[in-house]
Parts: sequence; structure tokens; C-alpha cells
Amino acid sequence: MENYSYCGKLVKKTLSASETIKLGEQFAAGLDNKNIFLWGELGAGKTTFLKGLGKGLAVREEVASPSFQLVRSYTGPSGALRLMHLDLYRLNSLEEILHLGWNDILDSDAAVAVEWADRAIDILPEEGIFMKFSHIAPDEREIEIYSEKRNIPGF
Ligand code: ADP
Ligand code: MG
Repeated sequence: MENYSYCGKLVKKTLSASETIKLGEQFAAGLDNKNIFLWGELGAGKTTFLKGLGKGLAVREEVASPSFQLVRSYTGPSGALRLMHLDLYRLNSLEEILHLGWNDILDSDAAVAVEWADRAIDILPEEGIFMKFSHIAPDEREIEIYSEKRNIPGF
């Protein structure tokens, strides 16, 4: 896969859920403890992508949408990158995630993936991998990937 860090923006299209899972898997290879911020409407494929990412990191449990917890941690083989999954869909206030240790989570040595990151827009760091998911057709999704917050239109 292209190295996203050398370009301001990369656009990917997938034509099925399994293609999005594959994209997530490819993304896991070579991922360091970067933070990944995802947004886009319900059903746009964020969790599906993270299922692939989890697969690529060989975590033990399948990544799923957290229903009540804001944060879930997934571990894989020893020495492998741990995955921390945050879903801000039900977030009521920024204080809620700040109290949860937002800054420590982002600074941790895990790969941190945040769904509905646009709900925390004011406290998102400049650096990271920013992914906007769009629902194009029943099985088609577009994924825009940005390497810097300042390059994102509307952010
Ligand atoms: P989100 O986390 O963004 O709300 P999900 O990943 O939970 O979205 O759901 C995406 C839904 O769309 C799943 O039911 C998935 O099977 C379906 N789907 C169909 N085509 C695609 C595609 N190309 N990529 C991702 N998901 C797809
Ligand atoms: Mg989701």
C-alpha cells in the first residue's frame, strides 16, 4: 500500500465489506503507534475497517462496535502492537473523554483508533492518520486518508 505519510491526501475506494477489511489488514502492516481518527456517517465502514486492522495486528478478539464502553483494548501476540478502540458515538461531552485519560491514551504505545473523531474535533492532535468514510452506493465506500489535520477541508 502507498505510504500515506508522504502525501497530504490519499483516496481509496472499496466495493465490498471484505475489501474494506483487506484495506484495514494492509494498513496494519507497518503501522507504528500512530493514532487513527475515523469519521463518516453510520454504516460508512469505520468499524469494518477496524475489524481488518485488528486482524492485521492479530488481536485475539474480533473488533466490534463498543455498545456502552467508550474504550476497548485488544491485545494480540506478545510484542505485537496493542489496539485501543474508542467510539465516540455516544459521547456527551469532551470532559467525558478527557477524564478517561484521552491524552495518556493518545500518547500510549498502542495503535489508537477513534471512531466518530469529528465529535472531538477541538481536542484532536495535529498529527495522526485521519480517515473520512463516505457511503457511495450500497456496497461502495470512499475513504479519504489525510496525514495532517490542517489538510482536512472543514476541520
Ligand atoms: P460504521 O462503523 O462506519 O458505522 P460499519 O463498519 O459498522 O460502519 O458498517 C458498515 C456496513 O456496511 C456493514 O454492514 C458492512 O457489511 C456494509 N458494507 C457494504 N459495503 C461495504 C464496504 N465497501 N466497506 C465497508 N462496509 C461495507
Ligand atoms: Mg462503527
